[in-house]
This record gives sequence, structure tokens and C-alpha cells, in this order.
Amino acid sequence: MIFKGNAVSVQMLEAGIAELNFDLQGESVNKFDSTTVSELGEAITALENTEGLKGVLATSGKGVFIVGADISEFVPLFELDPAATGEHLTKNNSNLNRLEDLGVPVVVAINGFALGGGLEFCLACDFRIASATAKVGLPEAKLGLIPGWGGTVRLPRLAGADVAIEWIASGKDQKAEAALKAGVVDGVVAPEALRDAALNVLQQCIDGKLDYATRRAQKKAPLQLNTIESMMAFETSKAFVAAQAGANYPAPVIAVKCMQKAAGMVRDEALEVEKEGFIKVASTDAAKALVGLFLSDQVIAKNAKGWEKKADKKIAQAAVLGAGIMGGGIAYQSALKGTPIKMKDIAQAGLDLGMSEANKLLSKQVNRGRMTPDKMGQILSAIDPTLSYESFDSVDMVVEAVVENPKVKHAVLADVEKHVSDDTIIASNTSTISITHLAEAMQRPENFCGMHFFNPVHAMPLVEVIRGEKTSDKAVARTVAYANAMGKKAIVVNDCPGFLVNRVLFPYFAGFAGLVRDGADFQKVDKVMEKWGWPMGPAYLLDVVGIDTGSHAEHVMAEGFPDRMAKSYKTAADVMFENERYGQKNGKGFYSYEKDKRGKPKKVATQEAYDLIAPVAADSKDFDNEEIIARMMIPMATEMARCLEENIVGSAAEADMALIYGIGFPPFRGGIFRWIDSIGIEKFVELSDKYKHLGKLYEATDAQREMAAAGKKYYA
Ligand code: NAD
Repeated sequence: MIFKGNAVSVQMLEAGIAELNFDLQGESVNKFDSTTVSELGEAITALENTEGLKGVLATSGKGVFIVGADISEFVPLFELDPAATGEHLTKNNSNLNRLEDLGVPVVVAINGFALGGGLEFCLACDFRIASATAKVGLPEAKLGLIPGWGGTVRLPRLAGADVAIEWIASGKDQKAEAALKAGVVDGVVAPEALRDAALNVLQQCIDGKLDYATRRAQKKAPLQLNTIESMMAFETSKAFVAAQAGANYPAPVIAVKCMQKAAGMVRDEALEVEKEGFIKVASTDAAKALVGLFLSDQVIAKNAKGWEKKADKKIAQAAVLGAGIMGGGIAYQSALKGTPIKMKDIAQAGLDLGMSEANKLLSKQVNRGRMTPDKMGQILSAIDPTLSYESFDSVDMVVEAVVENPKVKHAVLADVEKHVSDDTIIASNTSTISITHLAEAMQRPENFCGMHFFNPVHAMPLVEVIRGEKTSDKAVARTVAYANAMGKKAIVVNDCPGFLVNRVLFPYFAGFAGLVRDGADFQKVDKVMEKWGWPMGPAYLLDVVGIDTGSHAEHVMAEGFPDRMAKSYKTAADVMFENERYGQKNGKGFYSYEKDKRGKPKKVATQEAYDLIAPVAADSKDFDNEEIIARMMIPMATEMARCLEENIVGSAAEADMALIYGIGFPPFRGGIFRWIDSIGIEKFVELSDKYKHLGKLYEATDAQREMAAAGKKYYA
């Protein structure tokens, strides 16, 4: 052993070959944390000082190679001044340059994920041999950043500008075979053959059969492009990359600009350009928000894993009651992810519809070549459509997804309880009705909780798992384990009408109702909120959710929170409802819907909707964007603050992720609490005071005022 640290070690194998091994102690994966960076420097010094060294084999002692930089170290990094950020980059860049400048060949065996800094390390080596199961990529853009350890320098020089632009701008992971095709790795072998294959390549370099020196020179020289080629590669892609990323995500374009600026430079100069680019993106709000979001995502993943560990059993057989929009979606998702499911309805027509929806979704995948017809058959046969409770006694978990009516739900829940075992967990997919209230009909309320999916089930990641007053830990644990098995992001919340997401969504709709009442143009409100980052504005969202569904839920919410959610006036949505304009589902709502060329509903605004709204709205008034945003967002943000204060949700991180995964809150804002932090709670309270004449939904809470006075943040 010529070097031994807590993350990196170097030992001599035979005949002058050293193995540089990454194995971060106390962690399940390797990452480039500050320990690894420092130790890599020391390990390279040891290599530089080893007499008779002929070659280096780089390996990992984990199931992955290196998953990237330690993101949790980024937050303090962003607090540093630009010079300190630059120093942080320089430290590892100097490691990688020294590795690339060693007098002997270096070959890396990539056994699993090599992402971000992990791939940048591999790019500094002379040859890259990957296991067929490895995945590589530069995902920094997804965090609002650009590669900072030579990714924008070495990747274009090695694989060409087009590959580098595509990989860096998209941030996508690539399979080993794709990386081989793109010229990013030099060989792909079966996992068990990896070490020998990499050693073999290294030996060929040592024996002079493989020319590693030319490879190395290519990575250190300017890009081999003439002016026209360079313009074609960079200028044309810049517009495309900008359009794909959108104005709120500046990192991909900055990455392309860095590569373009550094194209004519040698490695060390090009690295300086990359450093400047990194410092620039690291100071953007988008980077801070996206890094924060990554960390919050880890919080919810950890919580969900923790619950799963507590689950008494894996769900071998599930059932869903109701084969409608939601029940059909739940059955599809469960079967797709490997849990067989019974789908019960009271009407054969319902069952047929549920099966045909699943069929449609699966056929799409088969047509796109993503699934074999055999697999499709297997998945469909894992859904058992039924009109009876036969063999429900062997079901581990039932999800109730019948109509949103407390009386019907009470009857169905009491009924199903008679047909399942004492041990079966029953969960309701209700969108709004209190779980504690629904549990009143049950003999075993401890085995009951909420499991709130979002529509469409296959596409929306969030599942709220709701704990009623009598819900046991066992029920929560098994339900979270089922959500995990279905590939969903589970967040456990406490019970109240609307739970977390719908409880804060209706105040947002109330903000919209007030604006239209006061003369705002609903199309303008939609445009402003879409520009703010929402996937769709409130009028369009109401149309997609269904005006009838929304109206029904609004009543439940008004009953639950009469002091602030009961309305004192007729809203534009009420008018739509009265006129049976239910939105997308029947072709007319705030907008009218026509089919586009691909048969998808396309929205068009018509005078008809404006004429209907006119009697309940003031004369048309042009609100400025700032006012629209404030009037829409304050009620949602304040209600979310109440949810946190009342312990409906356990942390700001969970609340933020729930809105991002449940209703597409703009990710580049990092979540609703990060948004409040970004403008400052003091400013938020001031803004609330400005609009408090609009009603209680606009009143900041006492705790928010205390936070403002104490200069506190939601994320300390
Ligand atoms: P839906 O009307 O599409 O489907 C309801 C189904 O339940 C119908 O097929 C009906 O035949 C069946 N049904 C009625 N009584 C039954 C009984 N006694 N036993 C078995 N089946 C019965 O409704 P949906 O939109 O799928 O909503 C179902 C539940 O999911 C509701 O509680 C709703 O609030 C909730 N939810 C809906 C959405 C959404 O966007 N649609 C989103 C989240 C949650």
C-alpha cells in the first residue's frame, strides 16, 4: 500500500502497475466530497513519487464508480465569495491535471454510475473501460450548474462538440453502450470481465501497442474545428439549447458559451473559462433553488425508505375499488411495477373502461419499442377486473377510489372491511375528505389511512400518505412501502380537509377568483402565472382538473376552513359550473377545446366565456404582473405556512417537494418555502399586509411575523 486514506487508496499490483481505488468509508456510494478531493491529491503525489511506476488502474470499491460531487457541500460553497468558489474548483482541477500529466498511462474501470465529477475524473484518464451496466453523464445542468472539473473542456475534445453539447445541456445519464457509440468510453464489457479488460488495455499502453500519448495530447490541445465548423456546432445549438431549457434555466446556454469561448484554447486556459462560467451560474437563483431541491428530494427519499423499513410485509396482492380515472390509473401503475392488483367496480362498463385505459398506455410503450408485447400481456394479466369481493381475504392492501362522496365512501369502506382479513390495510384516495371522518365508518380505523394519488396516476410522481387520528404506524408504513413499490414519491402528512396539496391549491384558486371578480382577464392571469413558471395557469388548470370536480372540492374545503375558504360572492368558476362548462372533459370551460392534428385537446379562447363571466366581474382592468403574482401566490404560501405550523407537514423540504411533485410548482424556484426565503420573509409579510383587505387568506400568520422580526428563514 503506498497510500491509504478514508476514501482513496493506492497499492502496487505487479510489474509496476498501481491500483488507485475509491472507497469512501461509512458511505454506500463514492462521491467527491472534500475528503476525497484532498486524498486524491495525496494519492497522486504518492504515484508521482513511486519509482518504477509503469501504469495506473483506477477502480471503485463500491457498486458505483463515483456518483458526483457531494451536493450537500454546495450550499456553504454558494455562500462563499467567487474567489473561494474558484479555489474549490482549482483544487480538484489540479488533481485531475496532475493525473493527466503523469508520466505513465492511466486506465479507469467504470463499474457503475460515473456522474458529474465522477465522469470528469474518468475523462482525465487515458482510456475508459465500462461495465455493460455502468451509466455515465454530466448532470450538472439539472442542478442549474455546469461541469466545473473539466467536463466542458475534455468532453468536446474527446468526443466532439456535438456530443458534448448534447450531454452537458441535457444532463442526461447515458448507458455504457451509448457512451461507447459517442466515443466517451473506449470499451464495454460484461461486469465480471471489467477488471481484466481494463488491466489488459493498460498493459497494451505500457507495451506501446496503444498510443495513449496522442490521446492525451488531443485532450490538452485546442478543439480541432475551423471557424465555420465551430460556428455550426456552437451558434446553431445555442438557440436550440436555450429554447429547450427555457429562460428560467440559464446553465445549459452558459455551458455552450464556455465551450465555444474555450474552443481555440489549450487545456489550462480552457479550464479558466470553465471556472468563470461555473462561478457565474453558481450565483444564479436557479442554481441555488435546484441544488436545494436536490437536497430536499433526498430528505423525502430517506423518510420514505425509513417507513418502508418499518413495514411488516411487502405487498404481494393489492386491490383497488372503483375503476374510474383514478382506480384505472392505480391498477395500471401497480401492475406495471410488479404488484398484482384486483380492480373492483360496481359496473362492468367501469371495468371495461379501466382495462382499456391500461391497454392504451401499454400499447403506446409497445409501439415505441419500449416494451415487448409479451411483457404487455404479463402486465395486463396482473390486473384482475372483478365485480365481486371474491378472494379479497388474501389482499394485503386495498385502495378505495370510488366517487368523492362521503356517504358512498362510508358505505364502501364499511363493506370492504367485512371481506378482507383483520390484517389488511385499507387506504382512501379521497382528494379532500378528512381521513378521520371517513374512519368513523370503520371497525378497524387503525388499519386505515389516506393514499392520495394525483391525476394522471402514471405521470404524477407524488402520493400523499395521510395519517388520520386513529391510523397506526403499521398502516402508514405499509402504504408508504406500496407507494415506493409503485415508483412514487410518498410524503406522509397529517389529516385535515384537502390534506396538504389541495389545502393550499384552493386558496390559490381563490386568489384567481378574486382577480377575475375585480376585472382581470383570465387569459392574462394564465399567461403571467405560466411565465412565473407554473406548467399551466389557474384557468387552464381548473379546466384540466374539471370545473365540476373543483367546485365539489371547493365546498368540502369551505366547510373545513369556513373562516377563510367560504366564499361571499359568485365566482367565474361557479358560472362555468352552472352552464355545464366542466372544462376539458366536455370540451368547454374557461377555454373551448378542439382536437389538434394528433387528436390532443387544444385550448382556444372564445368570446362566449367572457360574456358568461361579465355579470360576475367588474369592468375590465389591467393588473400589472407583480400584482397578479402576489394575489395568486400569497394565499397559497400563507396556507402552506399554516400547514407547517399545524404540523400537517413535517418540514419545509417535504412541503416544497409535495408541490413540485404534486402540481408542478416551478422547480427552478426550489419550492414555495424557498421562494419565500428568496424574497425574504420580511418582504413577504409586507406584501401580505398590502393585500390584507382581500380577506383572511392574505393575512400572514403570527409565526411568520415573528420570523420576520427575528430575521429567520424557512431553510436555516
Ligand atoms: P370516477 O368517477 O372516474 O370513478 C369512480 C368509479 O367508482 C366509477 O367507475 C364507479 O363505477 C365506481 N364506483 C362507484 N361506487 C362504487 C362502489 N360502491 N364500489 C366500487 N366501485 C364504485 O372518479 P375518479 O375521478 O377516479 O375519482 C375517484 C376518487 O379519486 C375520488 O375520491 C376522487 O376525489 C379521487 N381523486 C380524483 C382525482 C382526479 O383528478 N380525478 C385526483 C385525485 C383523487
